[in-house]
Amino acid sequence: MITVTDLTKKYARTTAVDHISFSVSKGDIVGFLGPNGAGKTTTMRMLTCFLPPTEGKATVAGFDVFEQSMEVRRRIGYLPESPPLYLEMETIEYLRFVGRLKGLSGADLEKRVAYVLDRCAIADVKTRLLSKLSKGYRQRVGLAQAIIHNPDVLILDEPTAGLDPKQINETRDLIKSLAGDHTIILSTHILPEVEQTCESVIIINKGKLVATDSVHNLQARARGAESVLVNVGVRSGEFPLSIVRDRLQRISGVSGTTLKEEFPGGALFEIESSRGQLVRGDLARAIVEAGWDLNELRPSAMSLEEIFLQLTGSDAAASSNTPPEPGPPADAPASEANA
Ligand code: ADP
Repeated sequence: MITVTDLTKKYARTTAVDHISFSVSKGDIVGFLGPNGAGKTTTMRMLTCFLPPTEGKATVAGFDVFEQSMEVRRRIGYLPESPPLYLEMETIEYLRFVGRLKGLSGADLEKRVAYVLDRCAIADVKTRLLSKLSKGYRQRVGLAQAIIHNPDVLILDEPTAGLDPKQINETRDLIKSLAGDHTIILSTHILPEVEQTCESVIIINKGKLVATDSVHNLQARARGAESVLVNVGVRSGEFPLSIVRDRLQRISGVSGTTLKEEFPGGALFEIESSRGQLVRGDLARAIVEAGWDLNELRPSAMSLEEIFLQLTGSDAAASSNTPPEPGPPADAPASEANA
């Protein structure tokens, strides 16, 4: 549905996006990740025809974003970080207005307005002025305007920024429910959001693509070795836990043993093994033969945050509360004057 080939954007001294290539299949929901300044917004603005690429090519549903921008705009719904709302309008009035801008009219327009009011759970505020809506409702109206013309592709920039936890969950659920009907690219700083919402991720750093894969494959690739967590039950005070650790460490194939947590009656260890060495059976046997209890044994998945840090060498993963760098407003056509 989306194909990006060697896409590049240069400003005067900065190469904001540097020969990135990726593709997104129909119905997928993809997280677009990168630290501040990585080039995410610039990429999204090129995909949504707001900004011409310096080099390379991008197509949406087979149409070139630069040469066939009218066709592309018809097939894309865009929710910039700040939804482009006219605050003096009522919700329904605004949706009719946007619908008409996107080429809808008559009964079709009314049908789509009724659909998005229902789908985005905003029917109860349809005659309310947008200025009187909470941030969560405004975000849902923003999503409603993005899907009103039933686009194939939805591009969402930080859609849960500034929402409270309840609103965040509601918005994430809504986005998840939209995948399938729409192909979605979701840009966010919040890595757990990607883990919860997206099937795959595109990670960029300093304008360059550093990974594009499913969340599952990335975790497997980044780990490079098997890692399991074992909860061993030992009567407290019986002997130091270092004895347990030494016993686990001696198992053939184990390359590292870390005491993660100690609690009355036992401890949690993380066991690393070399790639391809399945040590779970030997671990279980060693624990039981030593007379200890094996309370739990489970694979330890690497979090997306750890993977992100490994790939970007950045401390930006923890910056979910960091405000984005100042730049041109995301909802206005970009001016090339400062390029
Ligand atoms: P992100 O969305 O990942 O934070 P951006 O795409 O906004 O990153 O920015 C990528 C790089 O391009 C940054 O170094 C930023 O300062 C620069 N940049 C963005 N817009 C402009 C512009 N209009 N003129 C010059 N440099 C820009």
